[in-house]
Amino acid sequence: MSVGAFTKRVWQAALFTEIWDAMKVTFKHMFHRPITFQYPREQRTIPDTHRGALGLLRYDDGQERCVGCDLCEAACPSHCIKVISSEDKSLPLQRFASEFYIDITKCVFCGYCVEACPVNALAMTKMYEYSTHDKRTLLFDKKRLYDIGERHLTDAKKYLYAHGQEKEGQESREYRYFFPQSVIKPTQPPPKHLMKQVDEKSA
Ligand code: SF4
Ligand code: SF4
Repeated sequence: MSVGAFTKRVWQAALFTEIWDAMKVTFKHMFHRPITFQYPREQRTIPDTHRGALGLLRYDDGQERCVGCDLCEAACPSHCIKVISSEDKSLPLQRFASEFYIDITKCVFCGYCVEACPVNALAMTKMYEYSTHDKRTLLFDKKRLYDIGERHLTDAKKYLYAHGQEKEGQESREYRYFFPQSVIKPTQPPPKHLMKQVDEKSA
């Protein structure tokens, strides 16, 4: 060790410089606004795009939106949705989900089921407080899914608007589908090799 480095070490030891450096950091943070949330007393502001628990929705007059088409079940990569559909005897060609289950323990919150639904019957909510000691209670059935949809209706609709699934103020009962914004691409000219085929056909 050089003489200069040795002298520096002696001064540092004598003046407790490491302690003062550490105390400087402590004092600096004493005058900062704390960023720790005192959960659950304080709650975070959750964005409308948040993917929380799934809920089933009804139309404003109380009728169930779900037509039991199974598209959400087919789209789910985790195979955690089970829909059992039945015919409505009073309305020819009208179907509905007589049973609906989502095993939320398997759900990866990808949102594919919501995007696949042609009548926007499914939506994600801002609900995330459903931890439990009994895993079996996390198999959400139709009643529980509609309960979630009712309790979090405003957030569920905001989710659909934020993802371009539904337009605000619109409540059509027609089978409809809006592509999510992420899927819509600007119109591009066809690739050159396709252009050639088109030209040959038209010649
Ligand atoms: S969010 Fe994804 S994983 Fe969860 S139920 Fe829907 S499709 Fe399945
Ligand atoms: S929630 Fe939507 S996609 Fe799933 S069965 Fe009902 S109507 Fe079909």
